Amino acid sequence: MTPSNGAALWATGAALGLPALEGEMSADVCVVGLGASGLTCVREAVRLGARVVGVDAGDIGGGAAGRNGGFMLAGLAPFYHDAVGRFGRDRARTMYQATLDEIERIVAEMPAMVSRTGSLRIAESRDEEADCERQVAAMHADDLPAERYDGPEGRGVLVHGDGTFQPYERCRAMADAALRDGAALFEQSRVTGIAQGEVRTQQGRITARHVVVAVDGALDTLLPELAADVRTARLQMLATAPTREVHVPRPVYARWGYDYWQQRPDGAIALGGARDVGGDAEWTHDTMPTAVVQGALEQRLRERLGVDAPITHRWAASVSYSMDELPIVRDVRDGVWAIGGYSGTGNVMGSLLGRGLARKFLHGDDSLVRPFLRA
Ligand SMILES: Cc1cc2nc3c(=O)[nH]c(=O)nc-3n(C[C@H](O)[C@H](O)[C@H](O)COP(=O)(O)OP(=O)(O)OC[C@H]3O[C@@H](n4cnc5c(N)ncnc54)[C@H](O)[C@@H]3O)c2cc1C
Repeated sequence: MTPSNGAALWATGAALGLPALEGEMSADVCVVGLGASGLTCVREAVRLGARVVGVDAGDIGGGAAGRNGGFMLAGLAPFYHDAVGRFGRDRARTMYQATLDEIERIVAEMPAMVSRTGSLRIAESRDEEADCERQVAAMHADDLPAERYDGPEGRGVLVHGDGTFQPYERCRAMADAALRDGAALFEQSRVTGIAQGEVRTQQGRITARHVVVAVDGALDTLLPELAADVRTARLQMLATAPTREVHVPRPVYARWGYDYWQQRPDGAIALGGARDVGGDAEWTHDTMPTAVVQGALEQRLRERLGVDAPITHRWAASVSYSMDELPIVRDVRDGVWAIGGYSGTGNVMGSLLGRGLARKFLHGDDSLVRPFLRA
């Protein structure tokens, strides 16, 4: 089997079909990369009265933001108690709270889009079960919404407030709203050079006071100065035809987060992970699904979940992992900030940092990004 990189389960409707940028434009803010992180920055900047131009190398939502697992999770990539150990209790708590607040904002913006069922972390070994206990204890100590869980999926942690959503539709809806509000957005406009106040695409040029680079899985190639801080990985998924063989009421994270699945309202299962099974080969910019990882996902689907429904989708996309597991929010060149390095969990964090940079530039309010800045 050599799987091809097909449409994600989420692909719906016709593409937006926006034009490519040709010629010169000027703006207050130029956003490079129109996944959910970039689009959130665009929307917030427009809301604050700025003239905004956004460009993407491909289609809007064509990167990880429209092709992911659809989990909306609070927190950083490390589990809460690990984040406390790494970043200190006060800072870990502050960062977690910031993501909880961001989920509230996302839900307030698009209430119909998010299903807030909570999420499960399920242990697959005794060691992991003990780790789940540590997670619950640390979250309780800091008054965060989690409890021990013992149910049909297994034992672990139930985190309240998390949820699921349709990632591609969210990107589409954000782009539509940004266009209505006056943003200028361009597809098929690969950025080839960024300098202070200037962004160059294959056929165009934008001058802008502030530039935000929100290209997550392409950060290290577009901004080589970040190559020591982030590493690009391929994440893979599959999905099935609608089925009622199982009932999965909440998204599940299992095996230390390496595997994850959810069931859509129509019964389809979306299952991702097994990056560890793929080994070092998964540290790549290539987005072609592989037989090794897809085979492991299929085995999980059949044996762990007990689902026999036919597989209808197989896909992959790029993300970047940051070396210290803190997301990247950094001024890399004069007037040029980069966000990314979400280590596989950027749906909430990317929006938080995109929004945060718009506020910082346009209102001088850096409260959203401050907890994530490195010394
Ligand atoms: C299979 C998979 C499952 C995942 N599951 C989850 C999950 O359940 N929950 C979660 O929170 N996170 C998940 N993630 C991670 C999450 O999808 C990402 O962290 C998040 O989508 C990043 O969004 P973004 O907007 O920053 O980047 P992206 O969506 O990757 O967007 C970056 C954009 O930049 C564009 N670009 C790249 N280079 C250039 C250039 N030179 N010029 C112009 N544009 C450029 C790309 O075309 C792309 O559209 C998953 C990721 C994958 C791949």
